[in-house]
Amino acid sequence: MAKSLEEYQRKRNFDDSPEPAGKSVRRPQTQALQYCIQKHDASHLHYDFRLELDGTLKSWAIPKGPSLDPKVRRLAVHVEDHPLEYASFEGHIPEGHYGAGDVIVWDRGVWLPDGDPQQGYAKGKLRFRLQGEKLSGTWNLFRTHLAGKKEQWLLVKSADEEARAETDFDIVKAKPDSVLSERTLIPRTPTRKAAKGDAH
Ligand code: MN
Repeated sequence: MAKSLEEYQRKRNFDDSPEPAGKSVRRPQTQALQYCIQKHDASHLHYDFRLELDGTLKSWAIPKGPSLDPKVRRLAVHVEDHPLEYASFEGHIPEGHYGAGDVIVWDRGVWLPDGDPQQGYAKGKLRFRLQGEKLSGTWNLFRTHLAGKKEQWLLVKSADEEARAETDFDIVKAKPDSVLSERTLIPRTPTRKAAKGDAH
């Protein structure tokens, strides 16, 4: 059985390769799930808090945005899932469309659930760490029994070294801009100040 030089060559290269074909390397499932917060100037300014889970972005609209103060509970209205690709969306949603208005990515990073995230989500009690560009430390998101068309959850910071008193430091005021671009967002609501050079 004569083999061509190429065949021998191929065989040798194959044997030398560190990860031979057909032998898949199984890695433990890492919990590097993405999260983002989009600042959205729709009919009311709010912050869309989105956590990746089960291949989608679970989403909550937080009217006042997150607070680093463990004493401050921020209303987080559960809204519809968004596709993962939406996490990096910035721009303008035209009038006549759902959520018309400007969107910037206010924060992004990874979230690390404490315990089983599917179970926590189903039970309405999520505890997790954030490693974002603005937010970090431990956070809690839990469902309340407050009546409303949509589920009303609360976002609360845990008391840890990343916590800050609201009176000391208000992160939504201190860091208003995009983490993705040079964009900032001048809310139309509640008041829209005329930007320099605006025609009236
Ligand atoms: Mn929104």
